[in-house]
Amino acid sequence: MTKVVKFGGSSLASAEQFKKVKNIITADKDRRYVVPSLPGKRNSADTKVTDMLYHCYAKAANGENFDNEMKSIQARYQEIIDGLQLTADLTAEFATIKEQFAAKAGKDYAASRGEYLNGILLANYLGYEFIDSAEYIFFDENGAFLPEKTNAALSAKLATCDRAVIPGFYGSNPDGSVKTFSRGGSDITGSIVARAADATLYENWTDVSGFLVTDPRIVENPQVIETITYKELRELSYMGATVLHEDAIFPVRTAGIPINIRNTNAPEDPGTIIVENTSRKPRCIITGIAGKKGFTSINIEKDMMNSEIGFGRKVLQAFEDNGISFEHMPSGIDTLTVFVHQTEFEDHEQQVLNQLHKTANPDSIEIETDLALIAVVGRAMKSKWGTAAKIFTALTNASINVKMIDQGSSEQNVIIGVRNHDFEAAIRAIYNAFCND
Ligand code: ASP
Repeated sequence: MTKVVKFGGSSLASAEQFKKVKNIITADKDRRYVVPSLPGKRNSADTKVTDMLYHCYAKAANGENFDNEMKSIQARYQEIIDGLQLTADLTAEFATIKEQFAAKAGKDYAASRGEYLNGILLANYLGYEFIDSAEYIFFDENGAFLPEKTNAALSAKLATCDRAVIPGFYGSNPDGSVKTFSRGGSDITGSIVARAADATLYENWTDVSGFLVTDPRIVENPQVIETITYKELRELSYMGATVLHEDAIFPVRTAGIPINIRNTNAPEDPGTIIVENTSRKPRCIITGIAGKKGFTSINIEKDMMNSEIGFGRKVLQAFEDNGISFEHMPSGIDTLTVFVHQTEFEDHEQQVLNQLHKTANPDSIEIETDLALIAVVGRAMKSKWGTAAKIFTALTNASINVKMIDQGSSEQNVIIGVRNHDFEAAIRAIYNAFCND
């Protein structure tokens, strides 16, 4: 059995955290391939090394002196070396990095050094082989990740080494220069390595004990989700729940490898398992509740709208032509509502309205702002009566006016529109109805 373990920035922020990481890895001999992020924040006032590198490189790219910035970065690594009494010495690495910064090697190169250096230290500490991700993770000339080329090269390499550290977040362009994924991209590397290693499990170690049923800033101490499917996760992440980079799902999903979100600071907690399919029931019918504020609805009314072929297209065309993506479009008999992000819409409002009037010729258009959308997601809702009743009873009891209801055909998801100022109360009411009854 092979497990791939990825550790986030907070898991590797200091020598103390490195010790926890080593204990976790050595506690299970199946944990053979390790993907580190870089040293993250040691406390809430601290700066993540990625941000220090971006800042330092901005100075270098401007032709300014960046000695002090580079020294602070070096000090973060030195603290780890000293704290663990490592034999690794990064002096030569830092000399090269300084040269490359001065030669303006690029922002991606700069940011990637965080993971690169952390990978060297972790490999030294564990006694594992260090594999430079630039040699095995590939992008094309347009910056698109090349999954098959990467998988072929990386799986061949992993087959030759029993245990290794492969730094997260970066790979290389066809010309050999470094290219990073988007922020939080070490999650993606972990997933790529899991696929290449044909792992039985991808463990993603972070600073929370898994996905929570809802946002802990809204509900105190929400329950942890034990098992979630990729589909449910996608719906919750779309609505703003974040723990894992969205692009991290694809490589393992296609290979049928589950992801386990775990907490480095509470390794005994089982965390959340993300799977393709499961027969396990969520603890409380719904799997999760997530949502976002800041929507505007454009309510369009036209008599006999239903018999006018092409009406919907004309409406959506007005949004498309102005570069606005629509989030939802519930419709009635002679009404149709388009939900858009408020800030996106504001800039193009008059052009959209103008085009709507010209092409769709509606009887009236009404705009309502400051709306929030809440998604109640759960595989167990399918074919189960009473879920909607429970949601709406909870909202009624909390005196919350529901502005919109949308149930996806998958029956896994009910989306509710409320006013921004009812957002938190609505989430609390739904949570309490399902998870605290
Ligand atoms: N260090 C990178 C970032 O801050 C990647 C990661 O931590 O996953 O975005």
